[in-house]
Amino acid sequence: MNKLIEIQQFAMEQMEKWGLIEENWTFVWDNKAVRRYGQCRYHKREIGVTKKLALINTIEESKDVVLHEIAHALTGRGHGHDAVWKRMCIKVGARPERCYKSKDRGGNVNTIKGKYMLINKDTGKVYRHYHRKPRHKNWDGVWLQGKKAETLGKLKVVSVANNNTDRSPYKIQA
Ligand SMILES: [Zn+2]
Repeated sequence: MNKLIEIQQFAMEQMEKWGLIEENWTFVWDNKAVRRYGQCRYHKREIGVTKKLALINTIEESKDVVLHEIAHALTGRGHGHDAVWKRMCIKVGARPERCYKSKDRGGNVNTIKGKYMLINKDTGKVYRHYHRKPRHKNWDGVWLQGKKAETLGKLKVVSVANNNTDRSPYKIQA
């Protein structure tokens, strides 16, 4: 719990420092999210950080997410991850990167594995994870880009028993 308190305190301090508190912005924990690590909601003037990811990552990683979202709040809607936003990142001390880097991509971020996975029926090889069961039902004529021979007619979605931490390449949204 201390970890969350420390992150929240950091967020409040930084939001104060950059004038966001004065502009009625608030910090919130996003309790349901699993994919994105942070979100800047302009319409609500809210910076949300995903509690589940904060709990399984270092405080430093979450602090960077806070600063990433502060840079969004300061540059405003419509800039996305453009050059203006990147300059703001440097100013506030965030890494000027669009996405976090999960562990299996050589980064430091732990992510949450989805409950469903797309596997090869024959080999059991896992290609993708999903948090919601894919609507797509018929995988017969489907293949994965660059892996046609390996995957055509071999794909199947199965559910995973446990929802563990792993290294899927999810992005920070907005
Ligand atoms: Zn972003």
